[in-house]
Amino acid sequence: MKILTPVLCVAALSVAACAQEKSDVALLRSGAGSTAGLHPQSQPAEGQLPAPRAPRVPAQYNEVPMSRPIVALTFDDGPHPELTPQLLDILRQNGVRATFYVIGRNVAAYPEIARRIVSEGHEIANHTYNHPALTSVGAAGLQRELTSTTQIIEQTTGRRPTNMRPPYGAINDRVRAAILRDHGLDVIMWSCDPLDWKRPGAQVVRQRLVDGAKPGGILLAHDIHPGTIEAVPGVIQDLKAKGYGFATVSQLLALRETKPAQPAQLSAPAAAGEQSAVQ
Ligand SMILES: [Zn+2]
Repeated sequence: MKILTPVLCVAALSVAACAQEKSDVALLRSGAGSTAGLHPQSQPAEGQLPAPRAPRVPAQYNEVPMSRPIVALTFDDGPHPELTPQLLDILRQNGVRATFYVIGRNVAAYPEIARRIVSEGHEIANHTYNHPALTSVGAAGLQRELTSTTQIIEQTTGRRPTNMRPPYGAINDRVRAAILRDHGLDVIMWSCDPLDWKRPGAQVVRQRLVDGAKPGGILLAHDIHPGTIEAVPGVIQDLKAKGYGFATVSQLLALRETKPAQPAQLSAPAAAGEQSAVQ
């Protein structure tokens, strides 16, 4: 029944599939409705959600480990002067909060939309200033792209981003280390890419995102394509019907379920048993 759509990241710089496994379906069915109430419409942003159990060091995430049916909707490359406000209307009508990976130069061009993103409870995060592949800009360019974007976001909205997404998903060990160590930002990739930038039509985008959802999943989309905006109401409707709630990326990270104390030092049988129990 499920159509597995092998998908390539923009410019083929990395590969990300809408990860679907049989276990996800089982989790979905057994867990449906158990946490369907997480629609944070009436909550004042991230502050009300549980804090991480322990201080967290920046890391890279393609998804967030959890069994609860919660996903993060993420939208890249805006703000767009017409489409982002339309999307914000849809999210507000549905009581859903999302995460916007904004391009710094677009924040400079459309500051009022950036402020609206924050004022309506969404997360705003760093997607560089000029949208280069960070693997090809060198150390100085990397520094400039991230710092200038964090600055324009903070100056414009009063909110300092805590995570970023590399354009095209382009990353390597050098870039990752600099982002985590020098900038203290989490690197957020995705667990599902509907390839909406190829403009396959709203129905296809909707189906891919709904099929690609999983507990702790991070759904990629772009608020610069009309078909994506058109797909969003159906995506929300379908995922709510499946029992999913929605969270920003930071909220999702705060809700992540960590493994118990590392059992590596325990005897082999006990360790094996414990490890399988948390998977
Ligand atoms: Zn992008």
